[in-house]
Amino acid sequence: SKRGRLDRYLSVKVNINRKDVRLMLAQQRVCVDGRVAIDIDQAINEFSHITLDDQILQANMATYVMMNKPVGVVSATKDEQHRTVIDLLDRPDRAGLHIVGRLDLNSSGLLLLTNDGRWSSGLTSPDKKVTKVYRVTLENPLSQEYIEAFAAGMYFAYEDITTRPALLEIITDKVAQVSLTEGRYHQIKRMFGRFRNPVLQLHRISVGPLLLDPALAPGESRELTAHEITETS
Ligand code: URA
Repeated sequence: SKRGRLDRYLSVKVNINRKDVRLMLAQQRVCVDGRVAIDIDQAINEFSHITLDDQILQANMATYVMMNKPVGVVSATKDEQHRTVIDLLDRPDRAGLHIVGRLDLNSSGLLLLTNDGRWSSGLTSPDKKVTKVYRVTLENPLSQEYIEAFAAGMYFAYEDITTRPALLEIITDKVAQVSLTEGRYHQIKRMFGRFRNPVLQLHRISVGPLLLDPALAPGESRELTAHEITETS
């Protein structure tokens, strides 16, 4: 069940009317997250642990995973030609997870997966303006003009949009760090395309406050810590 009220959840799940739900609660037969539930209007969600007479009615764990996505693996749950990031996960609940902000086939780095739709919308909805940081290796040398062009925004006629101000920092001659608050189709490659400068490598290092764990080799993943979940919820 998604977000809702306990009385509605119980009446649907156990197939009884609201009056019997009240009685059931008054008899202290229902527990939510380990506590006796007495309010009909208690808020619950798909991850609330709910029991009736000590029988589990609902017990879904919210799962939050970070992966170091390797090059050559698709950010999708199914693909005909390539391995997917889901195939790389070695967990029984992997089929229930979805991807939070894709990376291109030949991009690598921080990729988030979850079964919590509210959490992923918080990180991906455009008005939240969550900053994503990329390390970009280019074929040709960079110059100051890039910094100005990225900060000014670029107009893309195909979508009729101007990109939001982006921060470009020159790390070395041919390596830039780019911070975006949006994620247009192939955005970084197309922005460097304006300078006829091909992107050789594109590696995401952070999403909001979450940094790619340097202990993760390409293809490896781990669950987020309680602190990382709190920071992004
Ligand atoms: N910009 C791109 O061009 N590709 C990505 O994977 C991410 C940002």
